[in-house]
Amino acid sequence: MAGNTNEVKRRTFLKKGLTGLAAVGAIPGAVKAAALASADSGRAGVGETQAQTKPIVRTLGKTGLKIPVVSMGVMNADNPAVVQAALDSGIFMLDTAHGYQRGRNEQMIGQVIKGRPRDSYMIATKVPGPGRDRSMQGLEGEALQKSFLEKVDLSLERLGLDHVEILYLHNNTTKEDVQNPAMIEALQKAKKSGKARFIGITTHSNEPAVIRATIEAKAYDVVLTAYNFRQDYRDELRKAVAEAAAAGIGIVAMKTQAGAYWDKEKQQPINMRAALKWVLNDPNVTTAIPGFTTFDQIKEDLTVMTDLKLTPADLKDLRLGEQVAGLYCQQCGQCVSGCPKSLPIPDLMRSYMYAYGYRNLQAAHELVGSLEVPENPCGSCASCSAVCVKGFDIADRVRDIARLRAVPGDFFA
Ligand code: SF4
Ligand code: SF4
Repeated sequence: MAGNTNEVKRRTFLKKGLTGLAAVGAIPGAVKAAALASADSGRAGVGETQAQTKPIVRTLGKTGLKIPVVSMGVMNADNPAVVQAALDSGIFMLDTAHGYQRGRNEQMIGQVIKGRPRDSYMIATKVPGPGRDRSMQGLEGEALQKSFLEKVDLSLERLGLDHVEILYLHNNTTKEDVQNPAMIEALQKAKKSGKARFIGITTHSNEPAVIRATIEAKAYDVVLTAYNFRQDYRDELRKAVAEAAAAGIGIVAMKTQAGAYWDKEKQQPINMRAALKWVLNDPNVTTAIPGFTTFDQIKEDLTVMTDLKLTPADLKDLRLGEQVAGLYCQQCGQCVSGCPKSLPIPDLMRSYMYAYGYRNLQAAHELVGSLEVPENPCGSCASCSAVCVKGFDIADRVRDIARLRAVPGDFFA
């Protein structure tokens, strides 16, 4: 029944479409690429705050790839029909990762893109390095590169492709992560062999420093960074993004919806369109990858593709965050020194956001399960001495999300 309802919604959505977008979606391959190319303003940001009928397309730094300002983060999507509808409606780039849904996310995308002309979509995927993948810890040099490149091969096999447009080194938090010589060499081997057209890094913690270290490395084409209206350090991040863009590095933005909801009960959705427009008003951001899971969300986000103007009502909605703690943890780590047990609070809070903001219990479970935390993390504390700059009740959220550790993994499979 749910499938039928979705199908009806999908058909209605596709039928109605959006002026301009539907036309682009209807034409395949090279023709679609040409249509997109012709929509390019030539210089990111120029004249884009006025509504227009064609999708706004920007160029991804020195890669030369032309991409509409809205792409799709597929992490939370498990319905192939939603991904299909996104591609049919003008979305060009799909963003996935080696680890999402233990590989099933890449497999699902592989099924969706099967038979579509290769130049009618772009795929970005991410493989972690030793800082984030336990199986690679302790490995060095050739052995480390081999392990990384085997994962790249497995990702390509799941996707059914011989190459992706962008291969990212996933989840970097330090200068050392992005300047690890073995990882840079492995990524360059993937590029040289044609398995990745371009290489980049992802970061959602300590972003300004990681981006500057990426520029310094002179090895990367693209940065995928968390970037949203909720980050206290957003001005500094904006500067780092501008520096990267000036160095020819293409910028893709994630976590743009800042947790999607203000509350865990999902009674107060964040104004998604406003949040998306906010980040895309930075002309140095080529595209954003909101993670929609429903046809309505696609439709909502696609309207942003032609209109980046922030209204006074939009700005008022975004200012709600000044009074509400919300679900988005900016991974700043300022709470950590207050916890006598040195709990990995930022990661636990990120799991909490996956569970309650994204309703992606599997991702939350995988992240919590990968952390080294005691059985009852806050059990012996009479009161919590860890203070969140956003006003989260940290102990309450830690206790809540830590319960997921007791749930068997196959429950979510
Ligand atoms: S209650 Fe939990 S988070 Fe707070 S200080 Fe104690 S162990 Fe750390
Ligand atoms: S819980 Fe709060 S202080 Fe701690 S990392 Fe997240 S936003 Fe920063």
